[in-house]
Amino acid sequence: MWLFLACTGDQPKDQIDTPADSGPVADTDSGEDSGGDRGDSGDDTGGDTAEPVVFDTTVDVIVVGTGPAGAAATVTAMDAGATVIVFEREEEAGMGMRLAGLVFGAGTRWQAEDGVEDSPEAAIAEWPEITGANASQGVQDFVQNSAANLEWLAAKGAEVEGPMEDLDAGSVARLHQMGWEDDPWPTFTEGYEPELRLGVEVTEPVMADGVVVGVRWRDTVTGEEGATGAAAVVVATGGFLRNRDRVNAAVPALADRELLYETNPSSNGGGLPFLDLAGAGSLRPEDIGMYVHALQDPGEAEGEALVAFMPDGMVLVDKDGNRFIDEEWSKSFDLFDRLPSGEVYGITSGPNAENLTFMRPAYNWVVLDEPEMLTVPDIEDLGSTDIFVEEDPSTLATAVGLDPDTFVATLDAYNTAAYTGTADAFGREPEAGEAVDGPPFVAVRLTPGLAKAFGGVATDASGHVLTPTGEEIPGLFAAGEVTGMVLGGGGGDGFSGSVNACYWSGRVSGGNAAARALGE
Ligand SMILES: Cc1cc2nc3c(=O)[nH]c(=O)nc-3n(C[C@H](O)[C@H](O)[C@H](O)COP(=O)(O)OP(=O)(O)OC[C@H]3O[C@@H](n4cnc5c(N)ncnc54)[C@H](O)[C@@H]3O)c2cc1C
Repeated sequence: MWLFLACTGDQPKDQIDTPADSGPVADTDSGEDSGGDRGDSGDDTGGDTAEPVVFDTTVDVIVVGTGPAGAAATVTAMDAGATVIVFEREEEAGMGMRLAGLVFGAGTRWQAEDGVEDSPEAAIAEWPEITGANASQGVQDFVQNSAANLEWLAAKGAEVEGPMEDLDAGSVARLHQMGWEDDPWPTFTEGYEPELRLGVEVTEPVMADGVVVGVRWRDTVTGEEGATGAAAVVVATGGFLRNRDRVNAAVPALADRELLYETNPSSNGGGLPFLDLAGAGSLRPEDIGMYVHALQDPGEAEGEALVAFMPDGMVLVDKDGNRFIDEEWSKSFDLFDRLPSGEVYGITSGPNAENLTFMRPAYNWVVLDEPEMLTVPDIEDLGSTDIFVEEDPSTLATAVGLDPDTFVATLDAYNTAAYTGTADAFGREPEAGEAVDGPPFVAVRLTPGLAKAFGGVATDASGHVLTPTGEEIPGLFAAGEVTGMVLGGGGGDGFSGSVNACYWSGRVSGGNAAARALGE
């Protein structure tokens, strides 16, 4: 184990708290990039840090963030014997753990119990079909371990159930349902009791000669600032989609679009300034997962999504009143190439319109036992300007601002396919019950909702954070959505149930951070 000695100018702090089994306090060696005791560097103030730094304490591993990735990193590092401090900017731990209900797994016992034949090899072979990209080493590691990781989660108190079919998971059902009966953070960390610093935001790395040796932090309530030392830091701070500057820089085509957020409010790239200061590179930050199934919540701040649960018998039309896609596509993240310019409307009618419901607001799964479901009249009562109800298609088109003739022709062509059981222009074969032949006719103006970051900070498949030229930054690891879910890069259009990859990557990074700290 090694420790970093930090000083305040001419007033050395000779009594830094240390882990119980630590040896003598030492300062860093400029040449070393692995754990173990080090020699003198002469620079004990942090390579990128002008001011001297005093650590309040020093541990083996610091974990930043208490979502799925941070939780998994914490317990894995502690299982290896490391001392751990966890920083969480919010007042509560584990908010992200409460959100995810669908988890990807290939070759699981739950699939077998449901008669689904599957294997990691089959999922890896299908990966290009699922995401549009070949399976990187990190993807292969994740998929190979996805079933065992679900078992690990179940052993830690998660309730895992059989899989559901989904577009983004390949030819067989791989999306399992997962939940926590009780508050997941205490359930998951029972018996570990890491030091948890809630309401404390990690702001900057403390570096010595290019090695990360600790973090600076700020208490979000009191404003108190300080620094804590560690042999390794795991950044597990989640996605960045609520940071529009980052999103616009990653995908300039989105800069002019109205977008909604289908993400946790804390997904604003809180760890990225830290990683930037440490000199981290990025890997395909433009791989952003978006859905087109949301409208602005009139009761919430700008950008908040009401997620529409689209009924059977709903067509999507563009600003000209033409269909542009097989509507099944709206369940997929794969959007950029297929999203038409201008506005998109979902159209349904008759009894199907009664099944059009909205979840409010998406992220409030955190605080609600059951998400609040709203109906079309509820949305109208809230004063939404995104919903239109009329007795006939032509009047609806006029109300929405679509060309009535084009719109009516679009519905006629679709309904003909539904009544005759033939394939429509997109190869879909709608059933008679899916006809959009009202009344009433309902149009919802749908806005792209930013859902997940499938690109992020550059890492290797072991969780080491890399510079833009691919070198490891000693002492720095990352995990979870901040890495784009999959260590070493996933790529492509993303995949549903990626939170299993967040847990998995937390285990990998937490384990390797502990190994570094313990000199293994
Ligand atoms: C409503 C909803 C439903 C979802 N459903 C699914 C689903 O069914 N399946 C699925 O796979 N995914 C789902 N997701 C996405 C999934 O929740 C995220 O991908 C996942 O939580 C990411 O995990 P993470 O640990 O990487 O980050 P997060 O869970 O975002 O956790 C990061 C934590 O880091 C903290 N943090 C950030 N910056 C700092 C800082 N500087 N200092 C200290 N702390 C910091 C944040 O406060 C946060 O608690 C859903 C998301 C939402 C909003």
